Amino acid sequence: MIQIGSIFILLCVASSILADKSGLAHGKSKKFDVKPVSEDKAKEYLQTFGYVNPTNLQSGGAAGGFDLLKNAIMKFQEYAGLSKTGVLDTQTKKKMAMPRCGITDEPMALTAGGPRAVTRKWSRNHITYSIDSWTPDLPRDTVRRAIREAYDKWSAVAPITFEEVSAGQGDIKVKFGSYSHGDPWPFDGDGGVLAHATMPENGALHFDDSENWAYKDADKIGGDYTDLLAVAIHEGGHTLGLEHSRDDNAIMAPFYARFKN
Ligand SMILES: [Zn+2]
Ligand SMILES: [Zn+2]
Repeated sequence: MIQIGSIFILLCVASSILADKSGLAHGKSKKFDVKPVSEDKAKEYLQTFGYVNPTNLQSGGAAGGFDLLKNAIMKFQEYAGLSKTGVLDTQTKKKMAMPRCGITDEPMALTAGGPRAVTRKWSRNHITYSIDSWTPDLPRDTVRRAIREAYDKWSAVAPITFEEVSAGQGDIKVKFGSYSHGDPWPFDGDGGVLAHATMPENGALHFDDSENWAYKDADKIGGDYTDLLAVAIHEGGHTLGLEHSRDDNAIMAPFYARFKN
């Protein structure tokens, strides 16, 4: 009962941790100045992030496939807060080029795309994490502080405590990696997918080290660097069993935004 209760509380409070969209709104950051993805990339995106099941798309025949695709596009447009045209227009293809989390948005296509496990909660309230590899972008103490602060945010709103333990020993294993990094979900280089994490009781939290990471450095984060704290809070939410939020201001929204203090 305690566990069910704590997940319920988490779901309720997750929407109170806010992301900062001001960089996006004012177009200050070059990170958001993206070119639209290609038609092929757009279709791949819909499969990767769970908007359409690739098997259905292939077995649906030409007409059926068209409806499925249109449906998937509209679902994505709804998720992304765009007008639901059902076609891969420029605004849709641009949104698909925005930096984001690697986890699927829709649980329907479990075989495609991002990491996802069946169990969605931890069977205990004290969870350990270890930082198993590092980024050259920040001193280790700074990375440590960012991860600590991210989990403190969750501890503050749910009856769960976190403790950092030695490398390799954590229930949750935090890692920086580029491209292929030892799991079935290779990263994609600079931009695009920034990080991903698994659901309980698998504990993987991986940052794409092709990004330039920064911590509480407004100049860097306003430029081409990615806000480690914001991404760590978001991915930390996944490691506790939270899925993506359709509320664009919520920290669990799939698209990247800086953390709003
Ligand atoms: Zn996510
Ligand atoms: Zn990974």
